[in-house]
Amino acid sequence: MTQWVYNFGKTGTDGDASRRNLLGGKGANLAEMSGIGLPVPPGFTLSTDVCTHFYDHDKTYPDTLDQQVREAIAKIESETGTRFADSANPLLVSVRSGARASMPGMMDTVLNLGLNDVTVVGLASRANDARFAYDSYRRFIQMYSDVVMEVDHGLFEDALEDMKLQRGVYEDTELTGDDLKALVASYKDIVQDEAGTGFPQDPWEQLWGAIGAVFASWMNTRAITYRRLNNIPVAWGTAINIQAMVFGNMGDDCATGVAFTRDPSTGENNFYGEFLINAQGEDVVAGIRTPLPLTVAARKKGGGEALSMQEAMPAAFDQLDAVRKKLEAHYRDMQDLEFTVQQGVLYMLQTRSGKRTAEAALRMAVEMADEGLITRDEALCRVDPNALDQLLHPTLDPNAEKVILARGLPASPGAACGKIVLNADRAEEMAAGGEVVILVRLETSPEDIHGMHAAAGILTARGGMTSHAAVVARGMGRACVSGASDVRFDEVSGKVFIADQVLVEGDIITIDGTSGEVYAGKVDMIQPKMSGAFASVMGWADEVRRMEVRTNAETPTEARVALDFGAQGIGLCRTEHMFFDADRIIAMRQMIMAADTEGRELALAKLLPMQRRDFEELFTIMAGLPVTIRLLDPPLHEFLPHSADELAEVAAAAGVTIETARQRSVKLAETNPMLGHRGCRLAVTYPEICRMQARAIFEAACAVAKNTGESPVPEVMVPLAATAREIALCKAEIDAAAAAVMAETGVTISYLVGTMVELPRASICAADLAVEAEFFSFGTNDLTQTSLGISRDDAGSFLHDYADKEIYPVDPFVSIDLEGVGSLVEMGVERGRKSRPDIKLGICGEHGGDGDSILFFEKVGLDYVSCSPYRVPAARLAAAQATIKTRQTD
Ligand code: ADP
Ligand code: MG
Ligand code: MG
Repeated sequence: MTQWVYNFGKTGTDGDASRRNLLGGKGANLAEMSGIGLPVPPGFTLSTDVCTHFYDHDKTYPDTLDQQVREAIAKIESETGTRFADSANPLLVSVRSGARASMPGMMDTVLNLGLNDVTVVGLASRANDARFAYDSYRRFIQMYSDVVMEVDHGLFEDALEDMKLQRGVYEDTELTGDDLKALVASYKDIVQDEAGTGFPQDPWEQLWGAIGAVFASWMNTRAITYRRLNNIPVAWGTAINIQAMVFGNMGDDCATGVAFTRDPSTGENNFYGEFLINAQGEDVVAGIRTPLPLTVAARKKGGGEALSMQEAMPAAFDQLDAVRKKLEAHYRDMQDLEFTVQQGVLYMLQTRSGKRTAEAALRMAVEMADEGLITRDEALCRVDPNALDQLLHPTLDPNAEKVILARGLPASPGAACGKIVLNADRAEEMAAGGEVVILVRLETSPEDIHGMHAAAGILTARGGMTSHAAVVARGMGRACVSGASDVRFDEVSGKVFIADQVLVEGDIITIDGTSGEVYAGKVDMIQPKMSGAFASVMGWADEVRRMEVRTNAETPTEARVALDFGAQGIGLCRTEHMFFDADRIIAMRQMIMAADTEGRELALAKLLPMQRRDFEELFTIMAGLPVTIRLLDPPLHEFLPHSADELAEVAAAAGVTIETARQRSVKLAETNPMLGHRGCRLAVTYPEICRMQARAIFEAACAVAKNTGESPVPEVMVPLAATAREIALCKAEIDAAAAAVMAETGVTISYLVGTMVELPRASICAADLAVEAEFFSFGTNDLTQTSLGISRDDAGSFLHDYADKEIYPVDPFVSIDLEGVGSLVEMGVERGRKSRPDIKLGICGEHGGDGDSILFFEKVGLDYVSCSPYRVPAARLAAAQATIKTRQTD
């Protein structure tokens, strides 16, 4: 008989942390905690196979599931001494989803299942506490009706608010048993009105209803969006955990909370978390009451008055602190825990590897390695290269003038400045239109994920450090200030009131997620420095990695930034980008539009000194490091004049009539510029362009060699070659220019001529190309475009459908398409090496900064990756991880 159900608890645990794929993260870790003797309420997990079966069989369950569930419930009954559906001593359970990868807040949990009009009386008399029993029942009705019966939970919240108002109290804990009993009655009316049927009274019906709803929620919009953003395959499915309830809402010796074994914002080795006395479930994260800190130290730091857990319930705190130590030593990583204290006794409800900011990830990795908890290789693999981005972005200039508007909690570090938007859809729209936006909300919920993703920063009026906004923002690396209670909204007029200011969508604010402050307008920012743990990790990465990391840079600023970030050369200097400046574009247009060689040479003569100056600057900055310069590869249409003014300008510069210029422009317009007269095809038709550029390169190199004593290392790159002959033609021009300039100046420099591999034919015929080319740089942006036959510029309108339907597992322009484009790279490498064993091999597409792609480039043995300046640190780390991982699989 297939095992669909896995038990955990004192009387037997079937699973452990290694069975995450089958049991989901939550279930596997509940089993693991139970296995190492931590106090976990007993329960069982329906495996992800049940979910797969459910969706493969028209939403039905395996035949033996019912029996296995009954047996597992019986096991909980015997461990707890309660009975499911029993009127005198009822067993209550939670039904919780738990996928393989953590999907915080995506799936819904139902607590206190098993209560009905009869069992609630039994619970009240056993606990001798009607308030507690009816509090549990009203929570259950609300959650169950929301999740299973799709009744709007806001209706219940309104009824609760009304009740509090009627009774003149602020907190739900101040309501009496009778109040809550009355509330239960009105909740049941709401259900009857909204769902058209009564609230189900049979606990078994409740149980299967909840199970069905959790499986169904695997396909809800929120879950689908989250999976899409995080590349989680739909086929994984979710597991379900059914677990005996423990109660944090039984009185003042009860509590519930969340904790991190180290500070997830800073990485400091301080116990960190929040809790609430006499509360249940998600009260702590829901922002209903303001949660309190765990430790005395945290309370003092925050300046709070209300007692921390350490002070209010020292014995329970000590149990929790012991669990903290045990868990960290066991998992060898920072853990994020959920716990409940019932009448002074601690129970563990969840543990997982905690989400952390990049700053915290670095600090923890370095400190854990120094503590001997993990090795340096492990430390390097603990830091997500993509997360380093957030550390490279600016922080507020401490000397900048600023007007503080409000203060909230420092929920996710970093500063952000942008236009206010009040809802997630607008945030997405405006961001798509190129605006930088700050999403301002009362609080956020999983429905806001897409807007949070689109925003540069998030500001909420409510919620603590573990609120949805805070957790998600930290995970995404967005700056976030939460719980800024001075922020008020008028939803109707779309106005936000902060202090004495009235703001509307589009107004600019600045938030500082490191201090929790909110400022009016734009505040000056400063560039970050790599120091402390960041510097240590980078140093360790450099010791380990095999591949070099270069940068794609055209301007002196980019080159300097990249050098600061540790670039070991320029892997791609796109010369056409050097001509977008207002004063240069005219000469460039004149060159493109010239009707004959003579006209072109006139324009080229104007361009030559400009190019030379640019190259001199780059060579000087790069001080002897290699600089790969790609010959002109303009998508011609980007340079053609569009407006009448532009036409007039070009005509004047070229000394022709506007009409001639217009006709020439029409003639040059291409049907399909991406496959048109570009790359080395331009040099084939107009060798004088190649000649001019080569001369500019070598004049610059020789001049810099003379002036600085550093020998520049130009690597001249022929773009978009499909054949050896194209390279040979360009190479002849380049070699001739080099020889001439060296003879004129009396300076000798070494240089390479190579090609950018960006056409499938170039990879296939790499052996031929390598006869001419001394290096290959895989231009994987164009190589992806040309192999998939998908234009990057037009892909936006349909590529998301490809992502939704999992046609390409990830966006092939972000992470290299391993089977297709990857195979072409591999082929190019092998065939190229065959005819030129010492050929230098690199990659210069966007993929050069992507972790998964870098792992692949390590495996095929490239010499270097090149990426944009801000990606350089991430690439250094990813390259080190790739070396470690490749070593492990060898
Ligand atoms: P999420 O994935 O959103 O964290 P969980 O399944 O962990 O959802 O449930 C949310 C909260 O519900 C938990 O943090 C815990 O406080 C509470 N909870 C879940 N199961 C139990 C239980 N058996 N007893 C008491 N509280 C529970
Ligand atoms: Mg939840
Ligand atoms: Mg949880």
